[in-house]
Amino acid sequence: MSKNETTAGDSEKTGIRHSTILVIGGGAAGMAAVIAARRSTKASGEPCSITLLERNPRPGTKIRISGGGKCNVTHRGTPAELLELGFLRRNEKRFLRHALYSFSNTDLLALLRSKGIETEERADGKVFPASGDAASIARSFEGLLKESRVQQHYSCRVQSVVRNGELFVVTTGDEVFTTECLVLATGGVSYSKTGTTGDGLVIARSLGHSIIKPSAALAPLYTIKSPPASLSGLALRSISLVAAAGCRSVERRGDLLFTHRGFSGPAALSLSRDVAELMGECGNCTLFANLFPEQSFVELEAEFLQQARRNGAQMVRKFLQVCPIAPPNGSIQVAPHGTLPSALVPFIMRHAGLENDLNWGGLPREKRQLLISVLKRFPLGSVREVPIDQGEISAGGVSLVEVNPKTMCSRIVPRLFICGELLDYAGEIGGFNLQAAFSTGWMAGVSAVQSIA
Ligand SMILES: Cc1cc2nc3c(=O)[nH]c(=O)nc-3n(C[C@H](O)[C@H](O)[C@H](O)COP(=O)(O)OP(=O)(O)OC[C@H]3O[C@@H](n4cnc5c(N)ncnc54)[C@H](O)[C@@H]3O)c2cc1C
Repeated sequence: MSKNETTAGDSEKTGIRHSTILVIGGGAAGMAAVIAARRSTKASGEPCSITLLERNPRPGTKIRISGGGKCNVTHRGTPAELLELGFLRRNEKRFLRHALYSFSNTDLLALLRSKGIETEERADGKVFPASGDAASIARSFEGLLKESRVQQHYSCRVQSVVRNGELFVVTTGDEVFTTECLVLATGGVSYSKTGTTGDGLVIARSLGHSIIKPSAALAPLYTIKSPPASLSGLALRSISLVAAAGCRSVERRGDLLFTHRGFSGPAALSLSRDVAELMGECGNCTLFANLFPEQSFVELEAEFLQQARRNGAQMVRKFLQVCPIAPPNGSIQVAPHGTLPSALVPFIMRHAGLENDLNWGGLPREKRQLLISVLKRFPLGSVREVPIDQGEISAGGVSLVEVNPKTMCSRIVPRLFICGELLDYAGEIGGFNLQAAFSTGWMAGVSAVQSIA
């Protein structure tokens, strides 16, 4: 892609490039905004020039690395189901509702199909391109941009935006653009190497918007003391991860991965936003795993007693290695979620103060109860950091109360539209963040055209 790929006329007589609509940011939200705007102008017959400015040499950088290179592009279900599963905070669900209904997952998949992209749905509801290639999604959007015949400028970083009467004046390193209608789609602040360094937050603030301080989300948890090297790479299935600070605690059910710096995997990533907030409020946070979340203390004790009666000579550690972990209550799966990894069992025994070769017959009541306490609250250490740059997304951003959820138009600045991860929402893992970016971007593009009609 050339630095300035111009596919439509420009008014360059003054050295200032003018267009009716200008979109800053060529990620999922910005590309959707451009495509939606062009389709709306075609439908309305309104003459309208559209410009896209992107600081990277090509659009869709984050899409290309999403889903481990496979791109979990959206999630199965109705918009109501996506909101329920993908967004945990009520204000975010309320805000995103209109966008997810206006441009839904089926709309997105139809758009991709129009470019020859077939998708497949996994058992857990995640949707991926059937090719397993994230770049195919980015390429199809590049194709849609090309068909839209808009001015595309790459390697073009916006430095400032000022309002001058009815116009926005947008300055990059060496050029000045003016526009009647500005769409800000510059993303969050994580994975800053992909171009998301928070420029949009500075621009939005300079235009009068309130910014909710960005914080980590869908990020790994680094602990003060790293997990033992022998546990690095170990996965715990369907546990409950608990983070506690002072009298507050938060928890999340899911799989957990031990890493050489702390923890990752779905449970850790999902809980990271809450952990970052606890760290901000309390300055510390301790992690525990409930290794048998489906059974209460009393139920586990009854099971252990029964086992002791049935097979008193069995070593406790042998039993722990085969004791099945129940799937979450209400889950469609009925088969057990595996067992505790053998490598973890010696650590459990040590925490409970039990000798490795102890059998059920030699386990008195108080030791049995201590073992259950450890299984229900296995200590994982204190959090050192939730690294914001390592998050798949960042939380925080432009305050949702200052943006109209039915149009994505700023309530502060007329004809300013804000969309995608730049807004103060954060979705769960599962394709919800890309869908939210596409949906809010699409809505911004359509509304931008309506605002100038
Ligand atoms: C490693 C990783 C894996 C992920 N996997 C998934 C997944 O599988 N499924 C899912 O749903 N979500 C996933 N996400 C999250 C998802 O990619 C983002 O939420 C989504 O891309 C946000 O879209 P956006 O358009 O709002 O922002 P972005 O895609 O970040 O786009 C913003 C664009 O604005 C540009 N920009 C910024 N500042 C300027 C400036 N001053 N001038 C010009 N351009 C500028 C940036 O270069 C960037 O291209 C993943 C994220 C990461 C980091």
